[in-house]
Amino acid sequence: MAHAARLHESHQMDKMNNKQTHSFQAEVAQLLHLVTHSLYSNKEIFLRELISNASDACDKLRFEALNDPSLYGDQPDLQVRVSFDKQARTITIADTGIGMSEQEAIDHLGTIAKSGTRDFMSKLSGDQKADSQLIGQFGVGFYSGFIVADKITVESRRAGLPANEGVRWVSGGSGDFEVEQIERAERGTSITLHLRDDAQEFLNAWKLKQLINKYSDHISLPILMEKEEWKEGENDQPGEMVATGEWEVVNQASALWTRPKKDITDEQYIEFYKAITHDNEAPLSWSHNRVEGNTEYTQLLYIPSHAPMDLWNRDKKAGVKLYVKRVFIMDDAEALMPTYLRFVKGVIDSADLPLNVSRELLQESRDVRLIRDGNTRRVLSMLEDLAKHDKHDAMATEGDVVDVVSEDDKAKEGKYTKFYTEFGAVLKEGLGEDFSNGERIAKLLRFASTTSDAVVVSLADYKARMKEGQEAIYYITADTLAAAKNSPQLEVFKKKGIEVLLMTDRVDEWALNYLTEFDGTPMQSVAKGAVDLGKLQDEEEKKAAQEAAETFKPTLAKLKEALKNEVEDVRVTTRLVDSPACIVVQDGGISSQLARMLKQAGQPIPQSKPVLEVNPEHPLVKKLEGSVHFNDLAHILFDQALLAEGGLPEDPAAYVRRVNALLV
Ligand code: ADP
Repeated sequence: MAHAARLHESHQMDKMNNKQTHSFQAEVAQLLHLVTHSLYSNKEIFLRELISNASDACDKLRFEALNDPSLYGDQPDLQVRVSFDKQARTITIADTGIGMSEQEAIDHLGTIAKSGTRDFMSKLSGDQKADSQLIGQFGVGFYSGFIVADKITVESRRAGLPANEGVRWVSGGSGDFEVEQIERAERGTSITLHLRDDAQEFLNAWKLKQLINKYSDHISLPILMEKEEWKEGENDQPGEMVATGEWEVVNQASALWTRPKKDITDEQYIEFYKAITHDNEAPLSWSHNRVEGNTEYTQLLYIPSHAPMDLWNRDKKAGVKLYVKRVFIMDDAEALMPTYLRFVKGVIDSADLPLNVSRELLQESRDVRLIRDGNTRRVLSMLEDLAKHDKHDAMATEGDVVDVVSEDDKAKEGKYTKFYTEFGAVLKEGLGEDFSNGERIAKLLRFASTTSDAVVVSLADYKARMKEGQEAIYYITADTLAAAKNSPQLEVFKKKGIEVLLMTDRVDEWALNYLTEFDGTPMQSVAKGAVDLGKLQDEEEKKAAQEAAETFKPTLAKLKEALKNEVEDVRVTTRLVDSPACIVVQDGGISSQLARMLKQAGQPIPQSKPVLEVNPEHPLVKKLEGSVHFNDLAHILFDQALLAEGGLPEDPAAYVRRVNALLV
């Protein structure tokens, strides 16, 4: 091997004697405790995490050196060396990457900078079992070393700094760490793990190679280990494997996405995903393509199987890494994916972008726009494919009879439902964000409905079940499924057996503004405007309603007068069967659900009074006529309508007083 420098043997004596002790940030201490107490059943991931950090450090150097080649100094090779020492019971992972200055070591290995990690920490319940499940879905990076080590020594020097500005960082993983300046000849970082008693199994070349093969084969850097050979024992001692001082590359050392699809196993795709995302769960689906056209690039995109902690942060960067001609450029290249697909992870490797491309430049590049459009279409097709093979859809979609179910198809069953539970609400943002794909997004939507509590009804399913003469897709938005289901506005629909979609996601109300029709059929909220069942209502019903409205006119006028501060209008309705009254939003107004949300968020609510609709057939309403308590009854009617849809009377005490007065 040409690169003979033994990176991890740089224990220069500490002449400066400038040790400082620092405390870990509270969150780090908490994370460390959790790591050591809950990940011991999956110890081996430490190697993946540390090699992945080493690889990132090399990527960063390569990138910085684009502008300043002198950073390479006299070591042009980027590589990782993994070695172990049986006597000392240590494993060392050494890289020739960017390295860390003393301050960087203090900052990066003692605090948590990433917002994702902080969000994660805030979700912890303190319940050991629940927390360890959470952490299983979460990358712990450098700190995973403490799963197998009771002490970690990091030695590092940042590229470009002189040899006497190296740093040694030592910690036992609880409470604090020590930092001192050291002399270090080589650039880069070496991490030495002092293994716990129960982790001695890793002091074995075969075992380490096997793990590198499993977790890090796709890393584009060479990973080297020392060659061993068998040495016969002397004087009746047993023989053993000993190091030869010669290093060999033990991984494929070509970036996974650059290899032909047919040479990559599912297992390898999954391991690559885990390595770039630090997610321990396999993805739901992936797609790997070389795209040639107006711009040339390789695309490897994954759909995770669960939402990250910070999914709701719309500012969160997308999870797609950008490479240009195999050189790593940046993480989280948001310009490569629309915001509503921010959950997608993966790699884009462009053949056409300049190496010195910046985030600002990305926003304006025509190539990037083409790549983003290509990525969007690809993700939507992946979702369509999952949806097509989901069981519910296979049963419900007409003309899509699957007669031959392959193993592959089987494996996809249930995946779309899982995807939708995790990411459906984010996908809906696409209705307002990506008009060009609005139709495809609409087809991917799923809802609960009056015939299905499970969120599996597609708009196409709904249309296929529409009643003869039904002219709209009916829906209702509410805070919870129970509130939606029991809403008085649904009564007449239930009576007539008309399905209504029940929408309970916070984004529904907003998203539905952008979805006014599906496949030629208008979307109609059952809580907005006058209910017009059109052809679903027969002549007799229409006549009866008109007559009721006529005889009820004087009472209606009195109601309007009594409630003039509360409502815009009072009218007779046919939408109620069992309830006396309900609140209806005027066409174009915002629903009471959205109004409540805005109010909670402290946002101004556009002033528009609702309409009160009353059911003239209801005994309580009939009682109004000639009652001496007319005013109280009118207010009770209105307040109860508010309560029924999950709202609160403006003056709850007054409501109670009125009801009590009547009860007595
Ligand atoms: P992450 O890698 O996800 O950011 P880690 O906890 O694994 O989180 O690492 C924290 C930080 O420490 C990294 O972001 C990086 O700045 C620094 N670091 C870790 N390992 C190395 C290394 N081998 N070389 C240089 N810097 C490193």
